[in-house]
Amino acid sequence: MANSYSTAKSDLQLVPFEISRKHQLAEDVYLISVPRKSDFEAGQVVAVSLSDGQTPRLYSIASGNAGPEISILFNIKKDGFLSPQLANSKEGDRILVSAPFGNFTCRDEKACWIASGTGIAPFASMFFSGQWKGKTLIHGGRTVDSFYFQDDIAPVMKESYIRCCSQENGLGLYQGRLTSYLKEQTYLDLSQKYYLCGSPEMVVDVRDILISKKVPFENIISEIYF
Ligand SMILES: Cc1cc2nc3c(=O)[nH]c(=O)nc-3n(C[C@H](O)[C@H](O)[C@H](O)COP(=O)(O)OP(=O)(O)OC[C@H]3O[C@@H](n4cnc5c(N)ncnc54)[C@H](O)[C@@H]3O)c2cc1C
Repeated sequence: MANSYSTAKSDLQLVPFEISRKHQLAEDVYLISVPRKSDFEAGQVVAVSLSDGQTPRLYSIASGNAGPEISILFNIKKDGFLSPQLANSKEGDRILVSAPFGNFTCRDEKACWIASGTGIAPFASMFFSGQWKGKTLIHGGRTVDSFYFQDDIAPVMKESYIRCCSQENGLGLYQGRLTSYLKEQTYLDLSQKYYLCGSPEMVVDVRDILISKKVPFENIISEIYF
C-alpha cells in the first residue's frame, strides 16, 4: 500500500554518522544516538540503513529538537533485516542516516497523545522539545519496564501521563490495555486533536474507539509503524 513516506524513501540521501551513544532500555529495546547536524521538528522521522543500496527503514526521532544528538528508539524484530543488526551495533560504528522529514508534528494546541510500545518516540521528542503543556499522554505497554522515558515524563506531566500496563501491576499504572482505558472514558474532548502512534493494530483499534465516541475523523492524526 502506498503511503506518504514511500515516495520520500526512494528520494532520500543518507549520509554516514558515527553512533555516539547506545543504551538498552528493556529486553530487545534500544536507544541509539548520532550527533545532530540539522534542525528538525519534534515528531519527524529519519531513514536509517547500514550500507548503500539497502532499503532504509524509518525511525521517529525520540530526542528533543535543541539537543546535541538525534536519538532513535527501536525494538528488535527478530526476523527483521535492520533492527537486529542495529541492536548489535556499537558506539563508534558507522550508520547511514537521512535528514529529518515528515509531518507528524504537533504545536502548542491542546491535544491527546496516544502511543503503544516504541510509538512513544515522537511524543518523547515533543516532550523533550518542551511541547507537553496542554497535552495528555496515554502510553500502552505490556510490562512495567516498557514505559520508556517515564522517569523524565512522569514528574513533569503528572496526572496527564497515563500508563496502561496489560501484563503486570505497578504503582500508578492503569492495569489493562490502553484500548480498555479509552473505552472506559465517559468524557472525551471532541474539539482537540488526537495523535496516535504505534502498531497498525493499535492505531486502527484506537481510531475506531475514538470515532465511536464521536471524535471527528479529522481530529485523529496517525503515524503507523508498519
Ligand atoms: C513512519 C515510520 C516510523 C517508524 N518509527 C519507528 C520507531 O521509532 N521505532 C521502531 O522500532 N520502529 C519504527 N518503525 C518501523 C521500522 O521502520 C521498521 O519497520 C522496523 O524496525 C523493522 O525493521 P527490520 O528491518 O528489522 O524488519 P523488516 O525486515 O523490515 O521486517 C519487518 C517485519 O516484516 C516481516 N517481513 C519481512 N519481509 C516479509 C515478507 N516478504 N513477507 C512477510 N513478512 C515479512 C518480518 O518478519 C518482520 O517481522 C517506523 C515505521 C514507519 C513507517
